Amino acid sequence: MASSAHSTPSVKYRYGEMTWPEIREAAAAGRVAILPVATIEDHGYHLPVDTDVLLCTTVCERGAALIPDECVLVPPVIHGYSPHHMDFPGTLSIDGHTFIKYVLDITKSLAHHGFTRILIVNGHGSNTPFCEIIARLTVIETAGNAIAMAVNHWGLNTVREVVEQIRESAPGGMSHACELETSMYLAIKPELVDMSKAVAEVNPYPTTSIPAWTDLVAGRPPTSSAVAWMPYWSTFSQSGVRGDATLATREKGEQILAAAAEGLAALVRELRQLEVGPRVDHH
Ligand SMILES: [Zn+2]
Repeated sequence: MASSAHSTPSVKYRYGEMTWPEIREAAAAGRVAILPVATIEDHGYHLPVDTDVLLCTTVCERGAALIPDECVLVPPVIHGYSPHHMDFPGTLSIDGHTFIKYVLDITKSLAHHGFTRILIVNGHGSNTPFCEIIARLTVIETAGNAIAMAVNHWGLNTVREVVEQIRESAPGGMSHACELETSMYLAIKPELVDMSKAVAEVNPYPTTSIPAWTDLVAGRPPTSSAVAWMPYWSTFSQSGVRGDATLATREKGEQILAAAAEGLAALVRELRQLEVGPRVDHH
């Protein structure tokens, strides 16, 4: 195990840098394939459009570097499902059906080469239901030979734990281009964040049954029903921010990144060792 996320591990783990015999060996060794997926879209006046890609790939890179001989890090899928953000210049959106088929083709290719454990790590909220479907379809379309799972980087248990300790925003403050995402970007490339333009836009739907806020970590208000919906982003946010970006700090971002890397490495280990029972056909 590498002593630090920033040291250079001796074992190759970046899939794109490996030769095909090395990849064949990695699959045979039961290493977990980590596939980052994100999107390019508006993130307020203060953050670049590559926010989801940068945060997700950084979490995956740092997590993989902690356990280089137990995983391979597949090059990221940087384009995702963002049609509800198209009112904001810069957003690039992939049709939902195309996205599912495209990412499923990648997971099935990995399974074809012998990777039996695949972890999709998502960095864009609206990719979430699609990533869940892709993980399930990977299992079904490989007849159970490959086990695929999907997780959002902010959904890692270690991230939730640290965020609950350090957040300053009320629930609703961490949703998009928010306290969480801005802090993480500040920890990676502070020169690209303009905090003088950071704003807070919270609580667009003050009702009791429809979520008054959604929060990456706190979830939804206890008074709301578990309804699923997503209106066009421009109907509730002028800046593109949903949450409170003004509370972001580099220190918080560093703590969140460290927690995410640890949580991801632990999850990869668990997935690698997970015992899945044999299918039983009861016909
Ligand atoms: Zn984002």
